[in-house]
Amino acid sequence: MEVAEKKVVEEVGEYKMAIKILKKSDNKVKFVLSKATPELANALRRAISFEVPVLAIEDVYFTKNSSALYDEIVAHRVGLIPLKGAKGYTLPDECKCKGKGCARCQTKAKLKVKGPATVLAKDLKFKDKSVKPVYPDMPIVKLLKNQELEFEATATLGKGKEHSKWSSGLAFYQRYPSIYIGQKDIKTPEKIVKLCPRNVYKTSGDRLVAENILDCNLCMACVDETKGTINVGSEEGKFIFTIESWGQLSPKAMLTNASKILKKQINGLKIR
Ligand SMILES: [Zn+2]
Repeated sequence: MEVAEKKVVEEVGEYKMAIKILKKSDNKVKFVLSKATPELANALRRAISFEVPVLAIEDVYFTKNSSALYDEIVAHRVGLIPLKGAKGYTLPDECKCKGKGCARCQTKAKLKVKGPATVLAKDLKFKDKSVKPVYPDMPIVKLLKNQELEFEATATLGKGKEHSKWSSGLAFYQRYPSIYIGQKDIKTPEKIVKLCPRNVYKTSGDRLVAENILDCNLCMACVDETKGTINVGSEEGKFIFTIESWGQLSPKAMLTNASKILKKQINGLKIR
């Protein structure tokens, strides 16, 4: 590990990433990631989307289903319901039970509804009371009079790389833009202001100013229009990173869990 760390320090000066929050809400966070390499940013993106474990329903045992939908379709819909509140569970592969199934790696849920009714996610009653659907009013199936749906389901932890139902959310990034404007050769700044789909530019007198640089998505419309008088590039080692959660975990938890997983994976490497 020491060798690898030394090499990174030599290449980029400093290997500790820095994060500056731009926008934050319950389910979404946008930040500037600096002192990073494209490889590191991409590894983080992959870890967030595909490695952070979340709980989802894996098996459904039907005792009654006289709804218009086949068992398989109902089971598929139930599996895709995002669940929150899961604490302390382990992945079935890493559990002491060796994947057989126990209270440490899974929780059961029951559902029993008789029509006429719309079966909703909140009709799922989990044995572990802290586990709940993120969106309680998600419809599963509509039942007519005398139609019934009854099943027992098992929820387990899993990773997004196995199935998207176990994905904690979306992570994506772009390079941090840097815009150079050759003022002398810009004849019609208003035209550029209107042309930019992200409203990056404004005019100040007869000058063109890049005001909302962080909104630039590097579409290059301004570069094409001015045949290179405006030059859009990217800053080295700097990225605009977005994390959007499906609701199971907060974006902060997604990032910290992903960082821990990444660290564990890197430590698993043996460098001679
Ligand atoms: Zn177990």
